[in-house]
Amino acid sequence: MTNFRSRVVQWTKREVAERALGRALAQLGNNPEKNAKYLLGAVDYVASGEKQGIIRDRVHRWVNEEAGKEFLGRIITHTHPNCRRRSLARMAVSMFFRDQNLRERCLQEYGVTPPYVMLISPSMRCNYRCQGCYAASYERKDDMDSQVFDRVLSEAEDMGINFFVILGGEPFIYPELLDVIKKHDKSFFQPYTNGYFIDKKMAKRLADLGNVAPQISVNGPAEYTDASRGKGSFDVCMQAMDNLREAGCVFGFSSLVTQHNVDAICSEEWIDQLIDKGALYGWLFLYMPVGGDPDLSLMPTPEQRNQLRVVMKQYRETKPILPIDFWNDGPLTGGCISGGRLYFHVNHRGDVEPCIFVHFATHNIHNCSLAEALASPFFSSIKQSQPFCYNTLRPCPVIDHHQAMWNLIQQNNANPTHEGAEKMFTELEPQMKEYSDGVQRVMDDVWDNEDYHNWAAQWEGLCGIPPERLEQRRKEYEESRRKSSYATQT
Ligand code: SF4
Repeated sequence: MTNFRSRVVQWTKREVAERALGRALAQLGNNPEKNAKYLLGAVDYVASGEKQGIIRDRVHRWVNEEAGKEFLGRIITHTHPNCRRRSLARMAVSMFFRDQNLRERCLQEYGVTPPYVMLISPSMRCNYRCQGCYAASYERKDDMDSQVFDRVLSEAEDMGINFFVILGGEPFIYPELLDVIKKHDKSFFQPYTNGYFIDKKMAKRLADLGNVAPQISVNGPAEYTDASRGKGSFDVCMQAMDNLREAGCVFGFSSLVTQHNVDAICSEEWIDQLIDKGALYGWLFLYMPVGGDPDLSLMPTPEQRNQLRVVMKQYRETKPILPIDFWNDGPLTGGCISGGRLYFHVNHRGDVEPCIFVHFATHNIHNCSLAEALASPFFSSIKQSQPFCYNTLRPCPVIDHHQAMWNLIQQNNANPTHEGAEKMFTELEPQMKEYSDGVQRVMDDVWDNEDYHNWAAQWEGLCGIPPERLEQRRKEYEESRRKSSYATQT
């Protein structure tokens, strides 16, 4: 009974925060000064404690900058108040303004601190047949049972998670998707989609639901998207964006960055096109050499990775859109977020994986509760190793510290969840070492010469990293810098 009561209190607190932010967002109108006043008043109300104060102060600055003002203007013209309330407000509360007591309650009740977001792939099927993709080998019988999908969402919600990213395959191919989402009316969903199923009718349905904000996967201008997805796929993405914008949905984009499309993705013309189409934010992912047939020549070089960092940071400061660069924004999250510190993935078979790019698991939700999987020694040892480096511009235990994740996988006897999962750690080890050495060479200089240290000082508060571990990582990093400078001099 105590647990039930504390859960109700928890939900109520979150709903109050979501309502305060949602009401401010729904009230936005033609007067920019009033808009800033409504929004900042709500942010001041929901932000509590020193940690959230850092975010509150950042929002205050941003809303008064040109890009922030324009961004608010775009919310007004492009989105329906229902979607602002049920998507934007929920996303902001889940990511930035969670109840401070949630960690403690979850720790007591489940023995684990709750991640911010759960990724789940109910189906691996897809209507496209992209080069190198394995989705074609899956059938309807391979889908996650809808009752299991529903159960896992409920268990996550019990732990205080209400931000769900739906992956695949193509999420909209899963017949029960919207029925299950409808049952989880107090949560927020972000499906990554090729846009094929988002016609005007679907966009209207999503706007009515309000709590679904699709991410349209588009790998740059037409020639790049069509080359990776097939002829006509770019037009499908653009049409889906038009449909979503006209219906008033909140939506974003997601792009896979390779050696070949990085210049196009960084171009001002392209980001302006995405703004014109109505995307409010977007996620950029580097090509990862995962799966049975990885192609290392597609991985952006360390220099290209830095190019992406510089350009996206600049766009975020000057354009009315929020691009998020999954690796280069490591300093904002205290480095790697996997293993349930901030996120994890459940695949279509129910395997609970630490990261969407790490196809290994020790637990499956068919044999245990979600809380048991999150409290597993595998996940705990990943969390205890984070950050993998003080320089969180090199956050990744898969591509930047190429042996770190492999050691944790072996120590915990984690099983591969996909054919060829171990290849990048074994067969491709020499190439991965060369790549991670290159990233170290480029990113350590960036780290030492830019102001990322200010963020590092705040990780403990924002991201749940103990100060003593942070201090240890700082010493390790400084030692490695001393050694490399000595090696260069001699
Ligand atoms: S393992 Fe790498 S890709 Fe996955 S969350 Fe960590 S840093 Fe990101």
